[in-house]
Amino acid sequence: MLLGLCGGICAGKSSIASYLVDEHRFKRIRLSRTAATPAVEKSASNASLPSAEPSPADANYTFATVDDLLDFVTLRWRERWVTTDIWDDKAVDTLLRRPFFLLVSVDAPVSVRWQRFKDRCAANKLTPPSLEEFVLRNDAHLFAPSTGLQALFGRAQLKLLNSTVSIASLHTAIKVLDLPNEARLRPSWDQYFMQLADLAAHRCNCMKRRVGCVIVREKRVISTGYNGTPRGMTNCNEGGCPRCNNAAKGGADLSTCLCLHAEENALLEAGRDRIGEKSILYCNTCPCLTCSVKITQVGISEVVYNQGYLVDTKTAEIFAESGVRLRQFSPPRNGLVDLSLNLPRDPIARAEEVSTESEDVRETLDNENFVRPIVSAKSMKA
Ligand SMILES: [Zn+2]
Ligand SMILES: [Zn+2]
Ligand SMILES: [Zn+2]
Repeated sequence: MLLGLCGGICAGKSSIASYLVDEHRFKRIRLSRTAATPAVEKSASNASLPSAEPSPADANYTFATVDDLLDFVTLRWRERWVTTDIWDDKAVDTLLRRPFFLLVSVDAPVSVRWQRFKDRCAANKLTPPSLEEFVLRNDAHLFAPSTGLQALFGRAQLKLLNSTVSIASLHTAIKVLDLPNEARLRPSWDQYFMQLADLAAHRCNCMKRRVGCVIVREKRVISTGYNGTPRGMTNCNEGGCPRCNNAAKGGADLSTCLCLHAEENALLEAGRDRIGEKSILYCNTCPCLTCSVKITQVGISEVVYNQGYLVDTKTAEIFAESGVRLRQFSPPRNGLVDLSLNLPRDPIARAEEVSTESEDVRETLDNENFVRPIVSAKSMKA
């Protein structure tokens, strides 16, 4: 895999790269600084910022262009490579096309980064800039028109907030994050189908809640569904269902609701014959009672859901009695990971725990192991 780290001045990208080199057999790979380097990047690096890195013994892995670098890694993608030389959109375009590349951004509060900058200056007996000078340099680095790096951070698949107070705590947090996990490069089947269910949910027109569903047989999608009023009727979000458009509490007046649930639409679309005996239903929300009896009747063998709902226990009872397997799967969330909140868990104990599980369950656990989101998922009740 090739990991690209981008981030502001003293955000910690070099520290993370060094950790990966020391602890996870990554090799550092570089782009040589040429005339093509944006002026603003030069102004950041040519400032009296002493390098935190040792002199590169890995000069063999320095390339003139991003294409050269990519050609080299393409032949060796099963080895682990890391670069911090992510400078412009064009390079990111090129790199993100490849399935072995992961872009990670690293950021930290400006006051924290200024303190790190000062510490590094002090260690090298240099006069640090004032906070104002540092802020101006930082603004140019991140926000200069067309060359500012801030826009690149938004393209990162994983965004790290590194306000950790020491290198040791940074290392602990990074260890928990398990950056070498290649499952980040390619989703597991559970993750893939749950993301399809989330995509279907975006087509929902019901005012109460976005729900999406996918029915899969032998790893092939046979139907999808989302919730809303039946065909030919006014969409729920255009006033089609009076019940959904008033402020009724979740679960109230369900008998007057005109909306079909995502699961019902997916079941109707697939039909009992195509569902057969080995179908799995993925839904971003745990099915309600009336859906769960229909799911049971058509012969779905397993239901995988992401978020809980009001009647999970009753649904679970119905499935348990009728022999439908029910399990929760939460895909790794995109977005910001605050490393200072990334609580350590013992990865060795975790690995032993996982090794006794079946392949599918192992995939699930690997994915759970990804990140702790800064904002916990709040389930919205319909
Ligand atoms: Zn509705
Ligand atoms: Zn309704
Ligand atoms: Zn339902």
